[in-house]
Amino acid sequence: MLFHGSLFPGRQNSPSSAVQSDLAHTRIANQKLQSKSDDLQRQVEFLALANQALFELISDKLGITEGDVIQRMQEIDARDGKTDGKMGAATSTCPNCGRIVNTGKTNCIYCGALIDTGHLFQKGK
Ligand SMILES: [Zn+2]
Repeated sequence: MLFHGSLFPGRQNSPSSAVQSDLAHTRIANQKLQSKSDDLQRQVEFLALANQALFELISDKLGITEGDVIQRMQEIDARDGKTDGKMGAATSTCPNCGRIVNTGKTNCIYCGALIDTGHLFQKGK
């Protein structure tokens, strides 16, 4: 191993410059991930606020209750055969080639045709 810039050959400064460089890169990567995580948290909070406002408006105008919403969420969750708190992709028939396609995709994997069926909030993945 070479000792870059050491005034005392045989006495290695600790930690080595390579380790310090790795540590600096790791800190920068960690800061970027923290920033992205903070952005996602703000987006989730904004969407929760927007959903609450929409629910209250609809509830006031149509009399829909929280129980109605929860029941519908459970129905949608179960459509893919799993109650896992997620909207699973469903299958559909490609409007162009007629093959079975996954509605979680925006385009048919066989012919590239636009798949515009499936859940509204999963479009554009
Ligand atoms: Zn197709």
